Formats: sequence, C-alpha cells, structure tokens
Amino acid sequence: MGERYDLMVKNGTVVLPGDVVQTDVAVRDGKIAAIAADLSAGAAAAAIDAEGCLVLAGVIDAHVHFNEPNFGHWEGFATGSAALAAGGCTAYVDMPLNGNPPTVSLDALREKERLAAGRSAVDYAFWGGLVPWNLNRLRELHDAGVAGFKAFLSDPGGEGEGRFREVDAATLRAGMERIAAFGGLLALHAESEGMTSRLAQRARADGRTGARDFAASRPVEAELAAVAEALALAEETGCRLHFVHISSPEAVRLAAEARRRGQDVSLETCPHYLTLTEDDMALLGPVAKCAPPLRDAARREELWALVLAGGVDLIASDHSPCPQAMKTAPGLTFFDAWGGIAGGQSTLELMLEEGWVKRGMPLPALSALLSANPARRFGFYPRKGEIAVGFDADLAIVDPSRPRALSRGELRQRHPHSPYIGRRLSCKVVATYCRGTLVYSEQDGIVAPGAGMRLQPE
Ligand code: ZN
Repeated sequence: MGERYDLMVKNGTVVLPGDVVQTDVAVRDGKIAAIAADLSAGAAAAAIDAEGCLVLAGVIDAHVHFNEPNFGHWEGFATGSAALAAGGCTAYVDMPLNGNPPTVSLDALREKERLAAGRSAVDYAFWGGLVPWNLNRLRELHDAGVAGFKAFLSDPGGEGEGRFREVDAATLRAGMERIAAFGGLLALHAESEGMTSRLAQRARADGRTGARDFAASRPVEAELAAVAEALALAEETGCRLHFVHISSPEAVRLAAEARRRGQDVSLETCPHYLTLTEDDMALLGPVAKCAPPLRDAARREELWALVLAGGVDLIASDHSPCPQAMKTAPGLTFFDAWGGIAGGQSTLELMLEEGWVKRGMPLPALSALLSANPARRFGFYPRKGEIAVGFDADLAIVDPSRPRALSRGELRQRHPHSPYIGRRLSCKVVATYCRGTLVYSEQDGIVAPGAGMRLQPE
C-alpha cells in the first residue's frame, strides 16, 4: 500500500523556494505531504490537473484594512477576504484602523477576532496599534498574539470618536522602548506630519487642490525625514522596525544603510508604487489616491531595480477601501477624497505581469517577496510561505496565458473600484487552496467563505 493523500495537484509548474519544477504536490491533513514527479493520482481522494499552470505559495498580504468593527460598509472580513482569495492570497494581517474602535486594546482585539471568525475565506492575523493613549496596552496585545504594532507619524484620517491617531514624539519613544523590552515589532507609516500638513495647508489656501498638488504636498522628502527620524530613535531604543508602503527608492536606500549598521529593520512597498505613477493619479483621479502618493516614472523604475536586486523585503497591497462616494462625490477635491487604493485582489497578477513577464524576475524571488518573506518577518514561518513538505498547503494556481483587460466584474471586494480596472494582464488566478481546502475557483467563486483561521505568530 502506498501513501494516501487528501488532494493531489498534478503536473503543475511549481514555484519552490529556489527552483521552478514541473511536478506533483500532494496534501494530507491540510499540509504539504509530498512533492515529487509522477505521484499516483489514485492515491488521493481528489486530484486536479494543473498542467500549464503555475503553482505558487499563497500570497501573505501583511497590510490590509478590512475596517471592522463599525466600518464594515467600507469593506469587511467576508468581502475583503473573498477578494484576496480570488487573487491567490491565503493569509493576511489586518491593520488596526480604520475600524472603530481601533485595535489598540485587548478588548478591541477580541472584538475583531469575534467578527472575523467564521467569515474570513483565508487565514488571518492582526496588527495592534500604537497611539498616544495606549502605552499600557501594548504588552497585553503582544501577549494575545498581534503580529506587531502599527503607528503613524502623520495624521491617518478616518472617522469617529476615538479613531486611530498619529503618535507624538514622546509616545513614539516610549512605545519603542516598551516594544523593544518585550521583543515586539513596530510598523511605521513614514511621512513627516510637520512637512505634509504645512504644504497641504498652503496648497489649499492657494486653491491648488488637484492630484498633482496633492502629490507635491507629500514629497519624497517628507518620507525621508520620517524614515530618518524613526531609524535614529529605533537605534537608540533597540526597537525592531518595519516601514509600511515605502514609495521612494531614496527611502529604501536609507533603510539599507541602517541595516548595514546592524539595525533590525525591514520595509515593504506596494504594487501601486511599482505599477502606477503620478501621471496615472492625475489621469485616473481619486481611485488612485494614496499616501504616500504615487511617484514619477523614473522613481518607479528605480524602485523596481531595488526590488530585483533584493533591496525590498516584501510586497503588500495596503488594500484600503471605502464607499465609492468618498472618492467621487460631487464637489470633493482631490485633497478631500479618501486616500487609499483598493487593489488587494490584484497583487499577485500584477506582480507576475510587471515582475516576471515584463522584467524577467525569477519566480522564486517574486514568490519570496509575496509569501516567504512576510511569513518570516511576522512570525508565520516555517508554517506558511513556501511550497515545502510540512508547510500548510496554501496554494495559488495561476494560468499564465490568459490575456485580458481586468474587469470590474472580476473584483470581489465590497466596492469594486480599483485603479487597475482596464489594465492588461496575462496571468489569472484560477484556484486558491488554504490549508488544502479549495476556497476559490474561477468557475465557482468563493466556495468556502468561512474557512479562514486565526493565526498566532510565533
Ligand atoms: Zn495602510
């Protein structure tokens, strides 16, 4: 008698940590049990033929805003996770805002866990927040298994009493000291509030409120100033740092210098900084508004060069949705429109197109940025992030020859607006497995809506 398996993925082009091989992947009890050519399909309860398709480790999106509690009309665990699953993502880490109450206390975390349970299509974990009023709550959040703490150096926006707020200098220092003391990780939105608020005020006063004016009010210098300030403070306090949504090659280099000096710092960039520019923002309008803003084409290419050279740790979507009206209501200036790009479903397809198809990036390197690296940095490795025996069977099956323009109808988030609608893509996610369970197929859509489980970082 040979081995018995629950599922067999036959003949796919499998993206392994250092190699791409046409082989079979067998799954038992939610884990990858064997990787070998010519495994007998008869030994599995179910088998699929993946010939001609890429088989990749499921994407781990370390940066999404699903906005519950109380802002589920902006997104929500069910719809947000459905979009991710349809994009080949099998785990995510939800940000502590723009739900309200934000995730800045144990009670708020428990409320989120309650709301996500049984409603998320894929696995999930949570970020805690660092705000000026919760220094005494950090330890309880850490002990309850948050992946780390998010803080803003500039005003995050958002709605409601008790909403998430940026840190002042004293809170940032004290927060870093406390987080360092228990070995946690601080994630920072790095833009200098002093610089951006002054420039924005001046622009508004002069009636300069278009897309390019918005970009000019949040220059690369504001990102660099914030990154430099945070790095200096982290060096003093010994705090581990992660910079979210870095938009400029200059900031990547600044972080790399700190790393060379021995600091424990990582950074992410997002698909929008690698695929869109300030010109797109002017052309597409608020659907392409984010902070930091999109940069020029030269910077986008420099950022790609750094990605290809291994200078960027990971790619996350920063899926930050809102109701359509907050982008397009009559009379709304570009400055007033909600800032956030709702592109979470497209991360893998975009990065395959722009990285692998157009720029020749090797698939294992691309997969590491999307899966293994976030798994390692945020405590899900060696359980998740790679196709290897013993890992969770989190798999994205991608047809690489499906040229099309991305259509609104493909999008599964609550409000299907995205700057990528109409964009030419050649790769399409056709099935997603989370711990061996089919959660999404192109044919049947989301087939296991509540299959996701809460992940405890290690
Ligand atoms: Zn964000």
